[in-house]
Amino acid sequence: IFATVQRAPRDPILGLTEQFVADQREHKVNLGVGVYQDASGKVPVLECVRAADADLSAGGKPYGYLPIDGLAAYDNAVADLVFDDSVERDRVAVVQSLGGTGALKVIADFLHQTRPDAGVLISAPSWENHRAIFTRAGFEVAEYPYYDADRRGVDVDAMVAALQSAEPGTVVVLHACCHNPTGYDLSPADWERVLAVVVERDLFPILDMAYQGFATSLEADGAAVRAFAAAGINGAVTTSFSKTFSLYGERVGALSVVCADADEAGRVLSQLKIIVRTTYSNPPTHGAAIVAAVLTDPAQRAGWESELGGMRDRIKQMRTALVDGLTAAGATGWEHITAQNGMFSYSGLTAEQMIALREEHAVYGLDSGRLCVAALNPTNLDRVITAIAAVSN
Ligand code: PMP
Repeated sequence: IFATVQRAPRDPILGLTEQFVADQREHKVNLGVGVYQDASGKVPVLECVRAADADLSAGGKPYGYLPIDGLAAYDNAVADLVFDDSVERDRVAVVQSLGGTGALKVIADFLHQTRPDAGVLISAPSWENHRAIFTRAGFEVAEYPYYDADRRGVDVDAMVAALQSAEPGTVVVLHACCHNPTGYDLSPADWERVLAVVVERDLFPILDMAYQGFATSLEADGAAVRAFAAAGINGAVTTSFSKTFSLYGERVGALSVVCADADEAGRVLSQLKIIVRTTYSNPPTHGAAIVAAVLTDPAQRAGWESELGGMRDRIKQMRTALVDGLTAAGATGWEHITAQNGMFSYSGLTAEQMIALREEHAVYGLDSGRLCVAALNPTNLDRVITAIAAVSN
């Protein structure tokens, strides 16, 4: 039956991980995958998560089914976090999702059902799964210009021009903060321009928010999302708590769709629920219960914000230490690393240099030059600096 099935290409990032695992060199460093690690190189368990987890276990609640759209307390807490009072809660249809990826999948299927002829635009470059998810949902996916390699930043003029010429109704996937893979974000003034063209051209924005709090603060990183909602724009927000709660495998995310009014939100929610029901029926219980408990308890929430700030500060320290170390090693022109946000950095290294990093120095990053700076730590930093200095001189 499957005689004609073709072998699918390997996922490039997972392929790199396999290569890393097979590498016998003792001092190998993996800067390929998108996972935050603490100063000792471990994926942290946040204190607020540990405490909420212990409370939940002590409570001995059974693991029954959740409603199709998830835990109500969780959905409401997410809506508060994402929108605050920028939009009336009853205008937003929220479903708990299987991570940020699950939220993107549900909105992609819903949009394809309701507006099959719309085009979809993603940033050039973008997180690879953006293209894959929307293509698989049946859309033609094209790119808007974003990364400006020469100027090491965002080419916002080209981006706005591309959005200006998009057909009304085009779906535009935007990175709310901590752009993956480049690390370059829009400034508040850039966001105003993007918002204006979204309104003018009647585009449908999806703000992908996988790193709220990793750039500046929960508040500042959520500003663009709240501005879009306050402007009355119909759009969607896909939230992931994988990184911000260090709950990668629990698959905790949410899809929020901002609608014209409460009636429309009710109709949209009913359709989202059909998609969920026919895809995985209902979401898992545990991770969302942890996040809901933390977000709704003022002390726990303050604890989370402080731990999130700790992760953010550690990444920034590593960025600064990397640039200082490279400069001290005689390599110049690395300041762009500290202008970027989040876990990733477009280093500017070429594919040949990335291969040399891997083959000659056992330092693993993507051939695009993307490094996960959230995997740097005081133990591997010098090795990475020496390796980058060697391949770039
Ligand atoms: N969007 C972006 C931009 C991401 O970087 C990621 C995670 N790599 C996701 C969505 C998906 O996150 P999750 O692991 O929660 O599915």
